[in-house]
Amino acid sequence: MTVARLALCKILSSHLPRLHLPSAFASASRQVNNPATGEIIADVPFMGRQETNDAISSAYQAFHSWSKLTAAERSKYLRKWYDLLMSHKEELGQLITLEQGKPLKEALGEVGYGASFIEFFAEEAKRVYGDIIPATLNDRRLFVLKQPVGVVGAITPWNFPLAMITRKVGPALACGCTVVVKPSELTPLTALAAAELALQAGIPPGVLNVVMGNAPEIGDALLSSSQVRKITFTGSTAVGKKLMAGAAGTVKRLSLELGGNAPCIVFDDADLDVAVKGTLAAKFRNSGQTCVCANRVLVQDGIYEKFAEAFSKAVQNLQVGDGFTEGVVQVVRLVMHAGSYSY
Ligand code: ADP
Repeated sequence: MTVARLALCKILSSHLPRLHLPSAFASASRQVNNPATGEIIADVPFMGRQETNDAISSAYQAFHSWSKLTAAERSKYLRKWYDLLMSHKEELGQLITLEQGKPLKEALGEVGYGASFIEFFAEEAKRVYGDIIPATLNDRRLFVLKQPVGVVGAITPWNFPLAMITRKVGPALACGCTVVVKPSELTPLTALAAAELALQAGIPPGVLNVVMGNAPEIGDALLSSSQVRKITFTGSTAVGKKLMAGAAGTVKRLSLELGGNAPCIVFDDADLDVAVKGTLAAKFRNSGQTCVCANRVLVQDGIYEKFAEAFSKAVQNLQVGDGFTEGVVQVVRLVMHAGSYSY
């Protein structure tokens, strides 16, 4: 590991105490690995029900004051957070590559993309309008007021460690909700760094909380709490179904973004170069780990042979390796099994 990357981890770990709740440190810890090499890059607390309940209480308390701010005040905090995310683009990009593995160029792209949600919702925060509805009786007036729902539980996957968080947290904070985020256990560091920058932006402690560790336990704690009023999730259909069922007990609102179904279709009259480049991007961006990555390629008979040949060649030319190496576009993720690594 380079000195710069070690320094980055040190900066992060020195901030960890600020990012968790007081007295909410889990006794156990979990390693975070660089997927390209298997190296251990950090240890993070392994949290469960107790820490999640503490985080929910903290978010619930913070909700009282955060939701009372004017939209313009919340907007200013979000804008500051956006500015800080962008001014730390390099470090965040490195962190994403380090723990998620995607090529640095893609990781830097994700920082811009992820931060853009905060910028967008900083602006939209001021435009949460209600409605006036024509009444059916003369002596009645009907209007709709939009109110923050309360504490939101946000569960995110590993493929976009920053953007999946900002896309959920941005709108929630903008309209006055507070959030407990559970990032993927594979990529908690980017979440912690983003939360640290939120604190630096002046967003009060308790408004954005991060818990990580035992996913089913954290999930159950979020689902069973009557203080959590909404669950937002991006991930597998199997886990989505569990969350949907679990949310029924306390009748929570749910937003689910589950598995994609994304055929890529090439017709006879396609421009071969464009079709190959397009299919390559659709299939292999982020090592094939985006929700819109092609899971089937359907090619019409007339162009099939030519396409198959050109596409195989293009795939063979994809450089596989460490995301920090110039030219690498694919990363093989090493998965840890009881202390050893396998592909
Ligand atoms: P993917 O296969 O796309 O990574 P998963 O659904 O396995 O999707 O994971 C997405 C997120 O859901 C991760 O943060 C993971 O830890 C979390 N998760 C997995 N199982 C549960 C569960 N039972 N309850 C709550 N969250 C879960």
